[in-house]
Amino acid sequence: MNKKVAFYTLGCKLNYSETSSIGRLFNNAGYETVDFTNTPDVFVINTCSVTENADKKCRKVVSEALKISPNAYVTIVGCYAQLKPKEIAEIPGVDMVLGAAEKFQIVDYITDLTKNPKAVVYNHPVSEANQFVSAWSFGDRTRTFLKVQDGCDYSCTFCTIPLARGSSRSDTIENVIERAKEIAASGVKEIVLTGVNLGDFGIRDGERHDKFFDLVKELDKVEGINRFRISSIEPNLLTDEIIEFVAQSKRFVPHFHIPLQSGSDKILGLMRRRYKRELYANRVSKIKQLMPHCCIGVDVIVGFPGETREEFIETYNFLNELNVSYLHVFTYSERENTLASEMSGVVPGSTRADRSKMLHILSDKKRRAFYESNLNKTEEVLFEGDIKDGFMHGFTRNYVKVKTKYDPVLVNELKAVYLTKISLDGDVEVTESEEILAH
Ligand code: SF4
Repeated sequence: MNKKVAFYTLGCKLNYSETSSIGRLFNNAGYETVDFTNTPDVFVINTCSVTENADKKCRKVVSEALKISPNAYVTIVGCYAQLKPKEIAEIPGVDMVLGAAEKFQIVDYITDLTKNPKAVVYNHPVSEANQFVSAWSFGDRTRTFLKVQDGCDYSCTFCTIPLARGSSRSDTIENVIERAKEIAASGVKEIVLTGVNLGDFGIRDGERHDKFFDLVKELDKVEGINRFRISSIEPNLLTDEIIEFVAQSKRFVPHFHIPLQSGSDKILGLMRRRYKRELYANRVSKIKQLMPHCCIGVDVIVGFPGETREEFIETYNFLNELNVSYLHVFTYSERENTLASEMSGVVPGSTRADRSKMLHILSDKKRRAFYESNLNKTEEVLFEGDIKDGFMHGFTRNYVKVKTKYDPVLVNELKAVYLTKISLDGDVEVTESEEILAH
């Protein structure tokens, strides 16, 4: 009988796509992927260093895992495993810890499933994580997350990602096109392009070979994929040519997620971000001028050291006036080995929590206003396979989340629907539409 492996992923979309790829390595080696609760022989936990209380969460997942399968072999990979291998190795029940350079060789490292009295650690310095390893999630969602870039050469003072994932490196355009064609052939209709610093796509072996825009233009020609979504792009890398191209593309959808982090130039400087707020405002207005219904998501951090009440209010007002659709709010938390953790002007925890709450409320208002501006129109929706209280969900091209009564025939189908009203849970209700849509 095949050995069984189960996965648990903490963190970002990139981690999800890498977990899927690691899963395929196991499948190719003869393992069967099963649910976490289905008494697996091997558990793989893919960690994140950005998640708050990363070590507590990791401990909890390990202890849950061992309750399910006390003799299972437990391997920890991911960003937190690269940053704190020793701490993780001390968690009772962990058998192996693999760093960023080793995680894609996981099947070779697991030679014997006998539990180790003490965890073994394979963790080379992150500078050795300089190979690009392609990853994509498959079969687990209607949308596929395709990793095209990894690592980051920026040095934002709050961020440990460059320490955990190494320097910027990318796949070749040819490989990405190949992957996209394979994904299309499997019936997936939407690809979300992911990377740590996606707009920096094009570096291989420390040298720039391509631009992200080159990739966008080539992908746009791939038949069979109906939608490409750009997961997140730094504002200073979101050029006019990219915005103008997306505005006329039939495949790249009108949705951008652009990290802002702060609306105060002083705080942006302390964070070592590579733009001022004016540049951000200018990107938003360029997008909206060409695509009035484009969805724009914003990452923002509250409670960064030195953020006074005035500077927070500056951020709040800036966002309030900006024509954006939703916020992802992060509460600043100190990370070891970062410049920010040594800065003065520490913001008390309760103030951080209050500021986060204020921006969450603002985000809800923004999302609602954006959804309202999309009502009474026909839009194309890609329906997903989840079912909750008898309803299924899907997203429009511009990322409005809609719901309708569950119908298995609709799963992974693109359908023109009429957006009628916002339901109590915040999703948009729809009815069938006969309208033929041209993008
Ligand atoms: S751009 Fe800044 S925040 Fe983003 S991964 Fe790079 S260093 Fe971290």
